[in-house]
Amino acid sequence: MKQISDFPRVSLAVLPTPLHKLENVSKRFGKNIYIKRDDMTGVALGGNKVRKLEFLLADAKNKGAELIMTTGQAQSNHAMLTAACANKLGMKTCLMLKKRGVTGKLGNQILNSILGAEVEFYDTDSYADIYAAMDEKTAAYAKQGKVAYGIPCGGSNALGALGYAECVRETMEQCKALGIKPDRMVSVVGSGGTYAGLCAGADLYAPDMKVTGIAVDSDPFDEICAKLKLEIGELLELDRPLGAENIEIYDNCGAGYSIPGPKDGEAVRYMARQEGIILDPVYTGKAFSKLLSMLEEGAFAEDDTIIFLHSGGAGGVFAIDLP
Ligand SMILES: *Cc1c(COP(=O)(O)O)cnc(C)c1O
Repeated sequence: MKQISDFPRVSLAVLPTPLHKLENVSKRFGKNIYIKRDDMTGVALGGNKVRKLEFLLADAKNKGAELIMTTGQAQSNHAMLTAACANKLGMKTCLMLKKRGVTGKLGNQILNSILGAEVEFYDTDSYADIYAAMDEKTAAYAKQGKVAYGIPCGGSNALGALGYAECVRETMEQCKALGIKPDRMVSVVGSGGTYAGLCAGADLYAPDMKVTGIAVDSDPFDEICAKLKLEIGELLELDRPLGAENIEIYDNCGAGYSIPGPKDGEAVRYMARQEGIILDPVYTGKAFSKLLSMLEEGAFAEDDTIIFLHSGGAGGVFAIDLP
């Protein structure tokens, strides 16, 4: 068996990120609700992708990569953070984005331009087309004896997901110091890597903690995350495969990916007005909105301790309207 610390990793994030109680939200629901501030990972405007990129870019560096390629929609936080992290390591970035969503110079597109990333838009609904274009670039680089390194959408492969298994270890250490025992961690599911990593981390470091996922897109996430967990287990050369038992995903895709509904807008404003914390319209706002509905419906035990993962997304606040 391998330890996560056996994997090459570059230091990009400021860790540990804060873990603190949401006093006003906790009071309203009679629970202990904490927030894990991965919106404060310390690169660009922060966000969850930095933890994944510590492993992915270490791999790229070891392979001698000069160019980092990745993909996502036009307002991809992941793409923006890939550019920011690659800058720190002196690598060039090409962001091969779907021409979908807000493509104008707003939000993350402003940040991409400030960061100096090359941006290419592809008019397609299929990531397969973009991965094919990545393969072409990789081949063109190889012809010149150079290495281009492709990172999948969201950085969501097993190697990237290790970052979130490690986040559970970090969070449990903080809980111990605070003298609390978390019953549940709640996270958004966007491409699946964060959630699969958290579930794997719970298996390894917090077997009594439930991990609740909230899907904000319509992909078959139960299958996607089960597969990712298996791959994480293989990567770690575990004796027993990591199973799907603790996968528990609820849906708040609503009208579609990156389309927040009125309740989601309300949830973002509620967090801001009660706690002074800004959630985003695509991911964390929709996840918190679903968590609020579940709390209102009495979904959890009386004095549960719940940790909500704030996975970032600040760029989207300045590009996507909140109803
Ligand atoms: C990418 C992203 C997510 C989703 O993480 P996945 O690992 O892709 O599921 C959640 N929140 C924010 C702010 C993100 O940018």
